[in-house]
Amino acid sequence: MPELPEVETVRRQLAPVVEGRRFETVRIVDARLTRPLDPDEVARELEGETVELVDRRGKYLIVRFESGRALLIHLRMTGSLSHAPSGELPDDPYRRAVVTLDDTSDVAYRDVRRFGTWLLLEPEEVESYVDSRVGREPLAEAYKAKHLAEKLASRKAPVKAAILDQRTVAGVGNIYADEALWRARIHPLIPAHELEPERVKALHRGIRKSLELGIARQGSTLSDYRTPNGESGQMQHEFKVYGRDGEPCERCGTPIDKIRVAGRGTWYCPRCQPYRG
Ligand SMILES: [Zn+2]
Repeated sequence: MPELPEVETVRRQLAPVVEGRRFETVRIVDARLTRPLDPDEVARELEGETVELVDRRGKYLIVRFESGRALLIHLRMTGSLSHAPSGELPDDPYRRAVVTLDDTSDVAYRDVRRFGTWLLLEPEEVESYVDSRVGREPLAEAYKAKHLAEKLASRKAPVKAAILDQRTVAGVGNIYADEALWRARIHPLIPAHELEPERVKALHRGIRKSLELGIARQGSTLSDYRTPNGESGQMQHEFKVYGRDGEPCERCGTPIDKIRVAGRGTWYCPRCQPYRG
């Protein structure tokens, strides 16, 4: 599933080709993308809108229009976007929508499992909608350890479950949660509210470091994630723990263990991330 680094990679590649462009024609061929709204109605509403900015908050891609409206795109499991000059989109049975821009190029949305969503919001709805669903942006300059501490202080859930909650911090999913906990040397099952301030600081650093590295590698390519330029990310070659059960920890050589936390496969180093201490 795309997490913050993957969505940020999409945003960075899409921004230069769509900012300042008008949505000339919009075709939405899968009703699930816009439900409960009629896809043709949403498509008609989008036509004529000019893109001011391609923004992101957590895993939401936010296409902000000059009108003040915004198209919120969530890729969920298998959504992806690609950009191609006029007439050069290859055939694709999983294509769910195409936006033709005023320079005649196309932006195509593909989604094999069809969990992705497109939601058009009116100007006054945008910030409140996003704020109610996602916490602070972890890579923002203003995001400090105290913000993470405030969110964790009241949570008795395992720390991994707490940071997977998008309201704790925006954009961290299963992969980067495990990577961040390894960096911070924190066992994923420790109750969030038991973490001392020093360990919360370490986790804050670990989250940022893992996400930044993910962005630098253009995300991780698992299943069929592709960037809008058709490239695959390279982060999967640099995971410290995620998916590495039985392989040696790069810090101490202990085999990485796999457990389940909050219903999700979870990888950690039993020696660097002890439950106590
Ligand atoms: Zn280790």
